[in-house]
Amino acid sequence: MMKKNMYINGEWTAATNGHTRTIINPFNQETIAEVPEGDETDTQSAILAAREAFDNGEWRHTSATERGKLVQKVAELIERDQQELAELETLDSGKTLTESIDDMKTIAEVFRYYGGLADKDGGEVIESPIPDSRSKVVREPVGVCGQITPWNYPLLQASWKLAPALAAGNTLIIKPSEITPLTTIKVMELIEEAGVPKGVANLVLGSGAKTGQLLAESHSVDLISFTGGIETGRKVMTAATGNFKKVALELGGKNPNIVFDDADFDTAVDQALNAVFFHAGQVCSAGARLLVQDSIHDPFIEALVERAKQIKLGNGFDGSTQSGPLISKEHREKVENYVQIGIQEGANLITGGKRPKAEGLQAGFFFEPTIFTECETSMRIVQEETFGPLLTVERFNTEEEAVQLANDSKYGLAGAVWTTDIRKAERVVSELRMGTVWINDFHPYFAQAPWGGYKASGIGRELGKQGLEEYTEVKHVYENTNPAPLHWF
Ligand code: NAD
Repeated sequence: MMKKNMYINGEWTAATNGHTRTIINPFNQETIAEVPEGDETDTQSAILAAREAFDNGEWRHTSATERGKLVQKVAELIERDQQELAELETLDSGKTLTESIDDMKTIAEVFRYYGGLADKDGGEVIESPIPDSRSKVVREPVGVCGQITPWNYPLLQASWKLAPALAAGNTLIIKPSEITPLTTIKVMELIEEAGVPKGVANLVLGSGAKTGQLLAESHSVDLISFTGGIETGRKVMTAATGNFKKVALELGGKNPNIVFDDADFDTAVDQALNAVFFHAGQVCSAGARLLVQDSIHDPFIEALVERAKQIKLGNGFDGSTQSGPLISKEHREKVENYVQIGIQEGANLITGGKRPKAEGLQAGFFFEPTIFTECETSMRIVQEETFGPLLTVERFNTEEEAVQLANDSKYGLAGAVWTTDIRKAERVVSELRMGTVWINDFHPYFAQAPWGGYKASGIGRELGKQGLEEYTEVKHVYENTNPAPLHWF
């Protein structure tokens, strides 16, 4: 069994209170690691370390080019240790090794991209309307950043925060989900190996209530970046009002996948499966809400159900596995509860809805791919994020109806449109109130493009140049080139 520690002020430390937490593999509930269960005392030490490392100026005055090189060095180390990182992610989260390897490649790209971007914004000279003056706008680091991440894409979500924060010259304290900390711990080892100075990047481990909450509340923290559920996001945002720190929130989604009758049928069926059942639906941008044009509804659902029944659940380390387990006992119970809600609401459970019976899956938190048809937009299973392998299907007739249904949600993270009529796709896309829209595809994201939500799906953006700007303050520098008394008083 692995034993790991927190990383505070350049030291690997146990929790001050001596408490530990065991980390389990959701495939078989075996213990894989023991990590410290830190609390407010450790979080406070990490905040102090990050504050001191920011205020002493060493890191923020390191040239942007040098910082960028260090961030790119982290990318190289991630590539070097890709297999080990991917195996840790699969052990910890249950996702397939193929998915974990893809994650690690993307993560290395995120560090490489932000490393490259670090010195590309040298400020901007602007035209001052006042005679004998010069004006420029520069970007500076925000300061001490608290970063809180979820369990579904443990290291991927961490990379979206760590890489831009470091590239922009901030110091930080990251708190990963208490159930999936292993890859974040490993990447802190790589950040240390790359030579990032002590105190710049700190890692605390523990429950959200005892560690994350303090990061959101602390007046010594200048920015809080949170990815997770909507209710936790509300707590984070409320706590942040104490010192009006900057807030970046990546929250949930209930993402519509709109299929018109002129779409390429087989591709749309195939990708509708991928949209919702990838990683057992534990994806913030999962296409968990299928909107199908009435004229193709029945054959579409028939094809979808047939394929959904064949999805092979299993051990993420087994090459033939297509989907792993859910993350935890509690999470599976939440999904099961939504199945009951769907039945009570009168939706038609057409496949799944239960734990698989197959041998070898009994110790894991598996759940069958589940499809409800005849759903109404007002139903809770349509409106709420179940974050499991649960698809709701609604019908529509017209383009206007499709848009109206798709936008009838408190969320606005992502959505997709399937049609061979590109003009129609463009019309629909321009009406969708979402941070990402795909035409004839589902799920692509990459370091260069911003990611984030409209409405209750969040505030701010990660990835892209916008993801770096989140970690900067904008300063206007005005110089009077011919100072003279005003004689106003
Ligand atoms: P969660 O909200 O339960 O936990 C997220 C993190 O917040 C964890 O690290 C947790 O310890 C911490 N936390 C808990 N209570 C806290 C508090 N009071 N103060 C500060 N931090 C606290 O979410 P989860 O179950 O880990 O992740 C699933 C959720 O994340 C889903 O809703 C999903 O949609 C969302 N998500 C969103 C995106 C996105 O990019 N929009 C990406 C991935 C996941």
